Amino acid sequence: MFPDMVDDRVLEQELFEVGRRLAAAMPVTRNPLKAFDEKAMDLASQDAELKAALFRFVDVVPACRSLEDLARHLTGFLGEVEQPPKPVGVAMRMGNTKAGRTALGASAAAGVRHMAHRFIVGESPKAALGVLRDLWKDGVASSVDLLGEATVTQGEAQRYADRCDEALDTVARHAVRWPERPQLEHDGAGPLPRANLSVKVSALTPLLRADAPERGKRDAADRLRPLLRRANELGAHLHIDMESMDSRDAVLELILELLGEDEFRAGPSAGLVLQAYLRDSPQSLDTILAWLGRVERAHPLTVRLVKGAYWDHEIVEAKQHGWDSPVFEVKADCDLNFELLTRRLLDARPAVRVAIASHNLRSVSHAIAYNRLSGGAESDLELQVLRGLGDPLQSAIARQGLRVRTYCPVGDLVAGMAYLVRRLLENTSNESFLHEQAQGAALEELLAKPRATAPA
Ligand SMILES: Cc1cc2nc3c(=O)[nH]c(=O)nc-3n(C[C@H](O)[C@H](O)[C@H](O)COP(=O)(O)OP(=O)(O)OC[C@H]3O[C@@H](n4cnc5c(N)ncnc54)[C@H](O)[C@@H]3O)c2cc1C
Repeated sequence: MFPDMVDDRVLEQELFEVGRRLAAAMPVTRNPLKAFDEKAMDLASQDAELKAALFRFVDVVPACRSLEDLARHLTGFLGEVEQPPKPVGVAMRMGNTKAGRTALGASAAAGVRHMAHRFIVGESPKAALGVLRDLWKDGVASSVDLLGEATVTQGEAQRYADRCDEALDTVARHAVRWPERPQLEHDGAGPLPRANLSVKVSALTPLLRADAPERGKRDAADRLRPLLRRANELGAHLHIDMESMDSRDAVLELILELLGEDEFRAGPSAGLVLQAYLRDSPQSLDTILAWLGRVERAHPLTVRLVKGAYWDHEIVEAKQHGWDSPVFEVKADCDLNFELLTRRLLDARPAVRVAIASHNLRSVSHAIAYNRLSGGAESDLELQVLRGLGDPLQSAIARQGLRVRTYCPVGDLVAGMAYLVRRLLENTSNESFLHEQAQGAALEELLAKPRATAPA
C-alpha cells in the first residue's frame, strides 16, 4: 500500500465519485427515518422539552400494564411541556376521558411496537434466523446483538452470558446451510466467519465501575472466556462493543489482556470498537497498534470504527462533574477525526481487519475512496450499518459488490427500549447525517468536507 501517495485533492474527487454512485444505487422508496413516526420525529427535533418528554415516555412503555396506564403516562409527560405544539394539545384533550385515554394508549402502544420491529430482528436468535438468512442471500452479512444492557445482579449477567452462548450455537449451526457468498466469506487474510455476535461487557458483569475497574474486569473475564472458547469451537466471530467513557479503559484493557492469553492466540476471530467522538481516540488506537506489535494471533484483530452512541450522556456527565468533555463538541471535528482514524486503520493492515460503521455517506465514501487510492483490495474493507437505519445504504453497498455487515439487535421490546431511545436521540439531532438527508440536503452538501474547528 502507498498511503503517502494519496493526494488530498484526488481523494476528494474519488470520494465524490464513490458517494454519487452509492447515492444512485440506494433504493428510493425506503427512508430510514420512516421507522420512527415522522410527526414525532419532526416535532421532537424542533422542541427540546417535547423531545425530553417523548424519551421519558418511551422509557416507561414496557412497564405499563394497560392502555389507560400508557395514555396516563403520555399525557403526564406531555403536560410538562410549557407550550405544546397543536398535535400534542389534541393528544392531551383525548386524555381527559376514559374512552379517549384508551384510544390514545392503543395508538401509542402500536406506534412503539411498530417502531421497535423495524430495528429489532426477532425476539430470540431462533426467531431471527429467517431475517439473517435473507440478508445473507442478498449479499449482506450480520452481527447479532442480544438486547439487554447494564446488568445489576450476578444472575442477570449469567443469563446474558447463557443467551450469548445459545445465540452463537444457534446462528453458527444454521449458517453452515447458507449459500456461498464469496465476497462475505473471505478477505486477504483468509476466511471470515459467517456467524458473528456482538456483546456488551456491562451486560456480562454487574461490577463494572469506573472507581474499581479491576473487580469488574475479573468478573467479566470469567464470562467472556467461555464465550471466546465457544466461538472458537464453532468457528464464529465474537465482537466486543464499546459503551460509555466510564467503562472505556476497563473494556479495552480487558479485551487486549484476554486475546493475548496463550489459550486464545489460535482463535477465535474477535474484535473491538474504537469511538471517534472521543478526543483521545488517536491515543487508544496507538495502544491497540502497539499491542498488535507485541501479540501474535492467528486471526487479525477486527477494529470497528464508530463515532459513538453516548454523545449526550458524555456531555451531561462531564457538565455534572465540571469535567472537560471527553467528546468533541463540534460535529465536524468528530467527522474529521473519524476520517483520520479510518486512514490510520487502513494503513495498519494486514495486522487489523477494518470495519467502518457509519450511515454517513461522506464517512463511508471516504473509506472506500482512500482504500482504493492507497492500493487496498476491495475485500479488505468492511462497511457496517445498523438494522433499520442503514437499510438503503446497506443495499447500495451490497450492489457495488462491497462487503457490508448489518448489526441486528435481537430481544424483546422491554430490553429494546434503551436501544430505541439511543437511536431516537441520535436521529432527532439536527447534526445527524440521516436527519440532514431526510430534510432533503443536496448530495454535494452531504459529501462536502467537514470544516474543522479543533487544532489538528
Ligand atoms: C454496525 C454498528 C455498530 C455500532 N457499535 C457501536 C458501539 O459498539 N459503540 C458505540 O458507542 N456506538 C456504536 N455504534 C453507533 C455509532 O457510534 C453512531 O452513533 C452511529 O452510527 C451514528 O453515526 P453515523 O456516522 O452513522 O452518523 P453521523 O450523523 O455522521 O454522526 C452522528 C454521530 O456524531 C457524533 N456527534 C453528534 N453531534 C456531535 C457534536 N455536536 N460534536 C461532536 N460529535 C457529535 C455522535 O457520535 C453521533 O452519534 C455502531 C454503529 C454501527 C453502524
